[in-house]
Amino acid sequence: MPEGQFKDGIAGGRLPADQYAENFSDLHPPLDHHEALVESDRCYFCYDAPCMNACPTSIDIPLFIRQISTGNPIGSAKTIFDQNILGGMCARVCPTETLCEEVCVREVAEGKPVQIGRLQRYATDVAMAEHKQFYPRAESTGKSVAVVGAGPAGLAAAHRLARHGHEVTILEARPKAGGLNEYGIAAYKSIDNFAQAEVDYVTAVGGIDIQNGKALGRDYQLSDLTRNYDAVFLGMGLGGVNALRADGEDADGVTNAVEFIAELRQASDLSSLPVGRRVVVIGGGMTAIDAAVQSKLLGAEEVTICYRRGQEHMNASEFEQDLAAANGVTIRHWLQPKRVIAEGGKVSGIELEYTAMNGDKLAGTGERLTLTADQVFKAIGQSFVPAALNGSGAAIELEAGRIKVDAEGRTSLANVWAGGDCIFGGDDLTVSAVAQGRDAAESINRSLTQG
Ligand SMILES: Cc1cc2nc3c(=O)[nH]c(=O)nc-3n(C[C@H](O)[C@H](O)[C@H](O)COP(=O)(O)OP(=O)(O)OC[C@H]3O[C@@H](n4cnc5c(N)ncnc54)[C@H](O)[C@@H]3O)c2cc1C
Ligand code: SF4
Repeated sequence: MPEGQFKDGIAGGRLPADQYAENFSDLHPPLDHHEALVESDRCYFCYDAPCMNACPTSIDIPLFIRQISTGNPIGSAKTIFDQNILGGMCARVCPTETLCEEVCVREVAEGKPVQIGRLQRYATDVAMAEHKQFYPRAESTGKSVAVVGAGPAGLAAAHRLARHGHEVTILEARPKAGGLNEYGIAAYKSIDNFAQAEVDYVTAVGGIDIQNGKALGRDYQLSDLTRNYDAVFLGMGLGGVNALRADGEDADGVTNAVEFIAELRQASDLSSLPVGRRVVVIGGGMTAIDAAVQSKLLGAEEVTICYRRGQEHMNASEFEQDLAAANGVTIRHWLQPKRVIAEGGKVSGIELEYTAMNGDKLAGTGERLTLTADQVFKAIGQSFVPAALNGSGAAIELEAGRIKVDAEGRTSLANVWAGGDCIFGGDDLTVSAVAQGRDAAESINRSLTQG
């Protein structure tokens, strides 16, 4: 074991310098031309293909696979982008095992689906490498739309609106566009600065002005936007993190997993990124898995995920759970955090309580367990922060803490639409945010041109 791994506490440089690049290389390396042809040949081109219904953006999957198999990857990319302009990122990050590939007839019959995600990546990579643009803008409508947030929802909405000839201004709080594609997705799912390459590809349609460092609620109010633009789309994602509700969670070394991942994604030198020797991650979703696996890849010796319910209840898919296990992460179930143990203000362990179902309610059993830890990550869910909407004069209606929208993405406020993670009823996936942004843009377009 490299000497660096024996450093106590949170430290950087746990691994030999060249190990980092290897650890954070592409999770699913791209298919080459021959592999793509062979894989595309496995598709039965089903009539009424179930995969299409399982894709939240309803890509015509049999068609794009057929186009690959007939040697037409550019046509294939167009089929994908027609429905999903962020098809390149979705090909990398969609949990295909619970979406399109789960229902593939080959999966059902043989347990080995057509690799739809990797084929999608093949076709979109070819088109993006050739800077192929498929959508000339319609004649200018003279209408302007403000989009708040440059994440997948905002980018998808902006692209569709720009295509229809509207002038789009994206106001983004952070220094870079991309939302969680840039700041959240695990590093090994999106290598080589792909998120920024995709932002450039999307904005190449023209008519989209991205202004960074512009936060709603801080630099301007919603009422400014409704006054100055013909329509507004809110794609602000989730800015808050749920509390552990464990004593002592303010100790040094207890970190929000999303912040850790953002720091990792922006680090120019991973060997300088500090990580604990013994890491405990609290949570059961994709964020928990990503924080745990990336801690291990940074050189943490022991990484344990503690989840308060059973394996079958975890939000992380079976594939993600297997990925964690394959990277040496231990997943423990039926445990909830009770107390962070600190020495000199720094976390040294965490006390957890076993849980069990009591009827249909989860309850602590009273039995406790202590794990040694020098870093604890909170990955128990994010929440919408409505504060940015306040001060606008007219409050937007929320439902269960997120923005309430109708089937077209309209909020309760006139001329304001919303989509992506910030709305109620979504499933917090990149591909769903893209679908909601796209559909809200179509609704905005109808309202601006027919109204
Ligand atoms: C750690 C992590 C890993 C994930 N991994 C996956 C995965 O592998 N696959 C998958 O499908 N999904 C994954 N997801 C979920 C996915 O990233 C989100 O569902 C998706 O990014 C939502 O898109 P969005 O546009 O709604 O929000 P976001 O991507 O969050 O973008 C919102 C944007 O709005 C900006 N913003 C926020 N507030 C303001 C404001 N007041 N003013 C201006 N701008 C503002 C933000 O800075 C951000 O750029 C992951 C999520 C996390 C947290
Ligand atoms: S966007 Fe995602 S769910 Fe849809 S076909 Fe592509 S990989 Fe499957």
